Amino acid sequence: MDLGIKGKRALVCASSKGLGLGCAEALAEAGVDLVMNARGAEALEAAAEDIRTRFGVSVTTVACDVTTAEGQAEVLAAADTPDILVTNAGGPPPGIWSDWDRDDFIRALDSNMLTPIALMKACLPAMMDRGWGRVVNITSQSVKAPIPALGLSNAARTGLTGYVAGTARQVAPSGVTINNLLPGIHDTDRAVSLDSGVSRQQNISVEQAREQREGTIPARRYGTRAEFGATCAFLCSQHAGFIVGQNVLLDGGATNATI
Ligand code: NAP
Repeated sequence: MDLGIKGKRALVCASSKGLGLGCAEALAEAGVDLVMNARGAEALEAAAEDIRTRFGVSVTTVACDVTTAEGQAEVLAAADTPDILVTNAGGPPPGIWSDWDRDDFIRALDSNMLTPIALMKACLPAMMDRGWGRVVNITSQSVKAPIPALGLSNAARTGLTGYVAGTARQVAPSGVTINNLLPGIHDTDRAVSLDSGVSRQQNISVEQAREQREGTIPARRYGTRAEFGATCAFLCSQHAGFIVGQNVLLDGGATNATI
């Protein structure tokens, strides 16, 4: 399917690895020029070069922490009013409800709620002026059904979801859509880190922790970054202009809910 976005320009945050990289690859395959970001310059440049070689699009890299005001200014300067914005950053650490104090919540809110809000606020006006724009926020399955060990994520991402629900309907008249992608477990470094935590807690191997988790998913496997990226690219396509303010769950059926 031609996604109809060849020649558009996208800012894809936190995209040297994992789900952000999947989004960058799928947009590049659709002919979109990219600004990619991550903190680590080496992996970022390697990912960018691979995308340039495979898809022939222009890729600018910005190595910085996108959850800081300085980092946001850097990526926004490089992207220069993008047509497409994909927000993403690392997830907060696991724990239980009694572990976290105010500073932990502020950090989680900065990373997973206030950073995407700041980036949207900066990018939406030009999209609205042009009468076309796409925003996809990478959130989490934890928005639909809380994950006990990820209370910081549950809280911060639900706040973002409320903001998007209201804002998406205010910008839609200008041809701009905002939607959220909610990953369940996907085969990325984040999954290895979560499985390593279970392995330590339960004194089992990382492989056993993964098998145990896969057994709880109706699809009996982890998602892939390519599947995730393809969904992101579709939401950014010309075909998705009537999808507004939605929360698209990609979890292999793991969240047991009718709607
Ligand atoms: P990942 O494989 O660990 O990749 C994270 C990417 O983001 C890397 O490129 C990393 O590069 C970059 N990054 C992290 N923090 C950053 C920051 N502050 N500024 C700029 N770049 C940053 O993680 P992932 O699995 O793709 O997860 C992406 C998001 O989805 C996370 O918020 C995660 O919590 C959420 N999520 C993931 C899953 C899953 O199963 N994978 C499920 C639910 C939710 P650098 O380290 O070099 O900065």
